[in-house]
Amino acid sequence: MSEEKSLNFLEEIIEEDIAAGLHGGRVHTRFPPEPNGYLHIGHATSICLNFGLARKYNGKCNLRFDDTNPTTEETEYVESIRNDIKWLGFEWDNEFYASDYFEKLYEFAVTLIKKGLAYVDDSTADEIAAMKGSTTAPGTNSPYRDRSIEENLRLFEEMKDGKYKDGEKTLRAKIDMAHPNLLLRDPLMYRIKHEHHHRTGDKWCIYPMYDFAHGQSDSIEEITHSICTLEFIHHRPLYNWFIEKLGIFPSKQYEFARRNLTYTVMSKRKLLQLVNEGHVNGWDDPRMPTVSGMRRRGYPAAAFRRFSDTIGIAKRENIVDIGLLEFCVREHLNKTANRVMAVLDPVKLVITNYPEGTTENFTAENNPEDENAGSRVIPFGRELWIEREDFMEEAPKKFFRLTPGNMVRLKSAYIVKCEGCVKDDAGNVIEVHCSYLPESKSGNDTSGLTVKGTIHWVSVEHARTAEVRLYDRLFKVEDPANAEGDFKDHINPDSMQVLSKVYIEPELAKAGVGDTMQFMRKGYFCVDLDSTAERIIFNRTVTLKDAWAKEQKKN
Ligand code: ATP
Ligand code: MG
Repeated sequence: MSEEKSLNFLEEIIEEDIAAGLHGGRVHTRFPPEPNGYLHIGHATSICLNFGLARKYNGKCNLRFDDTNPTTEETEYVESIRNDIKWLGFEWDNEFYASDYFEKLYEFAVTLIKKGLAYVDDSTADEIAAMKGSTTAPGTNSPYRDRSIEENLRLFEEMKDGKYKDGEKTLRAKIDMAHPNLLLRDPLMYRIKHEHHHRTGDKWCIYPMYDFAHGQSDSIEEITHSICTLEFIHHRPLYNWFIEKLGIFPSKQYEFARRNLTYTVMSKRKLLQLVNEGHVNGWDDPRMPTVSGMRRRGYPAAAFRRFSDTIGIAKRENIVDIGLLEFCVREHLNKTANRVMAVLDPVKLVITNYPEGTTENFTAENNPEDENAGSRVIPFGRELWIEREDFMEEAPKKFFRLTPGNMVRLKSAYIVKCEGCVKDDAGNVIEVHCSYLPESKSGNDTSGLTVKGTIHWVSVEHARTAEVRLYDRLFKVEDPANAEGDFKDHINPDSMQVLSKVYIEPELAKAGVGDTMQFMRKGYFCVDLDSTAERIIFNRTVTLKDAWAKEQKKN
């Protein structure tokens, strides 16, 4: 039986092209981010797709910063985008900037003017919009449409030389004001913007529109398969028109559906609002759907690649359950993360028959899923921290943890029998009392007993203190971008919970920023960037099971 997955529609196209010997069987893709924000999970899937196809077909993939709009682009974003791609496990063959092509694009525009296929228009933006017509009515020709080639050449050069103010003139392609596709009704090619550009400085005051820059940039780089998201499907005829009229390398555009994710928003504009208005602590806040946020939260790069592969590519807009991404994260961490013990909500357990002043060192396997992961030593004593929820004075029948008369195993140590508890004046449990069975020692158990519950613990004498940050969905509804009202109305006010007094095994205090581990029974965690030598801080990456789905079912 073949394990091979069937080809997706882009792979089918590429394999046909290779078989037909198109461009000598060469495959060359590109990832073209606009450096106006940090990359999010949607971009990550596009990266996996573009770089993945190049890898699969022994081709190449360029990184091209689509920086034709001077208003919003910043160098900070360029750096972060580079970092994120590398972290995801990909390397680009060439790094280019659309702004590198400004000179070339200007020449292309001049070529079209000379062919009588472009003209300078003095109409205002409102006038142009009014002349556009509608889906049911044709547009009207601009009064400037029939300027002579000479006049157009002169005016376009003057536009470039800064003779005109923003909005005073535009350059438009001369196609057809009655074209059924509104994008082909004499689309804008250039606009005047007296603005500083992050790379070209003040050299240019005219900037090409997306439609005149993107396809030409693909063509200059001899991109064979230019993959973009579905909203560009109607731009494809224009993409082809420019390439055909200029007679340049015939790159081809293919569209696939954007990937959206439940309980979050994906547009950079919306993410920027969350950052600027302080709803989160920066682009790399672990609740953000950005690559940097999810990396900080402890999501492994391999989980992104797996996720992207699993969802495949679609031709129709869809929204993917964030639970699937979390599943990929869990699957990966289950194999790679060491198991450790940490008590998030501590209460003291006293083993009344254990000799005072004694310490034993137990050895515990680091990861049962990985025999090369080794083992570590965990100190044990008379007083331990356990989770408050692991004790109940009056428990229901199926409570297999500590309740008077019940027995549990302390992980990697002994079986203990619960005797009762000590409470303060307000009735809060402050100590749980147990006795232990010396003959039940883990690895050398001669007690003959089997117990239903195993709980984790940390020795009071040896414990170190840590801070733990627990995260929940950033939004309360599945699709905040399309829910009623403003998307920010749906922010979950309890998306972060900080536990400032968590007890951890002494060994764990050595962990460094970015290290991931499983806190037994509590989930996968990683050491946060904010950690210092004095104060170690953990993020919960993901819970062990999908507690969320269960919770939803109950409601
Ligand atoms: P946003 O609307 O989030 O700002 P964008 O499309 O404007 O996204 P770009 O920087 O232009 O962002 O995108 C770079 C590449 O990533 C494009 O090829 C785009 O198609 C792709 N991309 C962006 N968002 C998604 C998504 N949600 N799913 C898949 N691909 C995406
Ligand atoms: Mg964009």
